[in-house]
Amino acid sequence: MLERRKTKQIYVGDVAVGGDAPVSIQSMTNTRTSDIEATVRQIKSLESLGCDIIRVAVPDNDSVAALVNIKSRIKIPVIADIHFDYRLALKAIKNGADAVRINPGNIGNNEKVVAVIQTAKESGIPIRIGVNSGSLEKDIVKKYGVTARALVESALRHVDFFEKNDFYNIKISVKASSIPLTIDAYRLLCNKVDYPLHIGITEAGTLFKGMIKSSVGIGALLSEGIGDTLRVSLTGNPEDEVKVGWEIVKSLNLRQRGPEFISCPTCGRTEIELADLAAKVEKSLEKLKEPLSIAVMGCPVNGPGEAKNCDYGIAGGKGQGIIFKKGVVVEKVPEKDLLERFVNLLREDGYN
Ligand code: SF4
Repeated sequence: MLERRKTKQIYVGDVAVGGDAPVSIQSMTNTRTSDIEATVRQIKSLESLGCDIIRVAVPDNDSVAALVNIKSRIKIPVIADIHFDYRLALKAIKNGADAVRINPGNIGNNEKVVAVIQTAKESGIPIRIGVNSGSLEKDIVKKYGVTARALVESALRHVDFFEKNDFYNIKISVKASSIPLTIDAYRLLCNKVDYPLHIGITEAGTLFKGMIKSSVGIGALLSEGIGDTLRVSLTGNPEDEVKVGWEIVKSLNLRQRGPEFISCPTCGRTEIELADLAAKVEKSLEKLKEPLSIAVMGCPVNGPGEAKNCDYGIAGGKGQGIIFKKGVVVEKVPEKDLLERFVNLLREDGYN
């Protein structure tokens, strides 16, 4: 088990962040928050995939008004994401946001930030100080350039301000789209503060590249024990953010949820349409919460061995496949019926 860096613990709704809490998975809706039906539908879908905390953009009064209704229909805590207009932060807190994320640098003068701090304090909710390489203060950029030092200086400046206002219910992020820059910044930051850290690679890109950049960046930080909650940023469907986030924490044995899938890379011996079959098996079982091991293997060389060592498995053959359960052959099935038969077997065993 990786050793995690010790931090203070805060609560976003009923989800603990930092301390000995597991690394929580966040995502952000991409619906218009004022479109209540679409937003609730998306959040419920993300909940079913294991999203622990959801963030919603609150750019206007219609969005802030929608928070009450949205909150009443979902299970997971909501973070209101606020830029520029501090009054939206005040209203979001009054409308039940479980936390707010602000970049104090773009909220305006100190009085406005203090108003947000006071309202959060009265409601007992945390604030994420979200520093981003794209919106650093001019004087800091002049002094340090866009560097890890600059990101950390900016974060520490805000932390100092919050502490002077007697507010400690904080988590911090220092994000950049460059992986080395992000890693350096978090390494530097975690030696300066013991607040929980929200980690991620900002604007990581479309599914394929974004998934790789996020996995490398977030994975590197987590492997050093840095990071208490994470968001994988992808251009596209937020469901993918949650799925990728879970795969990252599962791959480092930080958390377990749902099946561990094993499938072979295929080769000249493969005798069934394995890539298609493996993808369909994964898709059919993606909402299972039980930590099963499932193997989908292409041929009789390594196939039966791997499949037998898993809770459930398929080993392909010529136009057919063998289904295993806990090392025992259940049946031999024609290729066209393999997926249905395999999924049905799990359903019959209570894995729905
Ligand atoms: Fe090739 Fe069989 Fe290994 Fe798959 S399990 S890569 S088909 S040898």
